[in-house]
Amino acid sequence: MGRTVIHNATLFTATGKDAFRGDLVVEGDRIASISPTSAQLREGDIVIDATGLFCMPGMTEGHAHLSFENVTATEDLITPCPETQVFTAARGAKALIEAGFTSAYGASEAKLKLAVAVRDEVNAGRLPGPRIRAGGLEITVTGAMGDESKAHNPRQGPSTIVDGVDEMRRAVRLHCREGIDNIKLDVSGDPFYPATPAHTTPMTFEEILVAAETAHAYGRKINAHTRSIEGSKRCVRAGVDGLFHTEYADEELLDMMEEARDRIFVVPTVGLFAQIMAGEASAHGLTPEVGGYMNIPDLLENSVKTHSELRRRGIRHLIGGDYGFGWSKQGTQGRDLKFFVDHYGYSPAEALLCATRNGGLAMGYGGDLGTLEAGSLADLILVAGDPLADISVLSGPEKVVFVMRAGDVQKSTLPAASLAVAPALQAAE
Ligand SMILES: [Zn+2]
Repeated sequence: MGRTVIHNATLFTATGKDAFRGDLVVEGDRIASISPTSAQLREGDIVIDATGLFCMPGMTEGHAHLSFENVTATEDLITPCPETQVFTAARGAKALIEAGFTSAYGASEAKLKLAVAVRDEVNAGRLPGPRIRAGGLEITVTGAMGDESKAHNPRQGPSTIVDGVDEMRRAVRLHCREGIDNIKLDVSGDPFYPATPAHTTPMTFEEILVAAETAHAYGRKINAHTRSIEGSKRCVRAGVDGLFHTEYADEELLDMMEEARDRIFVVPTVGLFAQIMAGEASAHGLTPEVGGYMNIPDLLENSVKTHSELRRRGIRHLIGGDYGFGWSKQGTQGRDLKFFVDHYGYSPAEALLCATRNGGLAMGYGGDLGTLEAGSLADLILVAGDPLADISVLSGPEKVVFVMRAGDVQKSTLPAASLAVAPALQAAE
């Protein structure tokens, strides 16, 4: 198998080291070497002149809804048939990889197996896309977020509704049987469901616990939509792996999360609410004024407070989450990086660690993903710009000029002049 040599790039390894200029060699699906000195070329090496480009690990979308596209209401998730939505999810995967996201840590999808189908096609090399830990349906309880029914109007939401531990166990087992990697529970309420606002906690500890035990028994991960303090405490106690949103906290919860920091991942998913309050969703009726009625300013304020403190306590944050709405395109998840810097107190380099190293750890692969080190999986991107000077260069696909996943080129807009094949007997530089 041929090698690819990325020559003279600014290398951000996501290991805590400062960025440096040098060469990185990919052989097969792994990084063979990375060094500040020029690589010894071999005949047939593909050499990319990356002078002026920023090379970093591919990013992870930490709360992926691949099948969300132009969504303005849950109706948009419910009405289309799965046959149509699998194309939507495939487009979502393509948008992510083109924006430099080489991994997608699944939250939930509009139908049960959309991410499973796309994951399998991507893995087979038949569709462009990131590594995917497939989410299924959100699992919720009667009357909570995701339950779209009324007594006079039964309606199937993008959810599985369970009550009690037996139904929960069965639902999680069914998800596992159908190939879901990431189980998602709706533990707390949500501002989009007025009967159960964000601070409520409809799901019981026993239900969460049996879900976590069952998911783990099948070797899957379990994650939770949890905005309320009580919900997040139940999740940490029950062994939930990924906590989504987590805006509200008290001292006890912060201590619990700090104690569990080597086990849990936390995804603030701040984009959606920040966009609403910035007026970006106004054309769809979600004006800042409506956001005010929904108590979103309070959620945002608490998001800043809680996640700044979690940062100080060394919690492993991931970026992304809840993109694919009418005002937020798939592939713009990198916008979260700027919010992390501006509001949670991360330096640009630290924010990049959330997007890369932390994401790679959450995906599984035992530390082989999310950093640029000899022996790591070759998931990397080249950026025409310096994210350390201007983090917003990662806000979309435009400046991401090259994407490699597992050693395979997934995107390249590099000029032909920057590519060369090393001839035989070329002397080392
Ligand atoms: Zn979500």
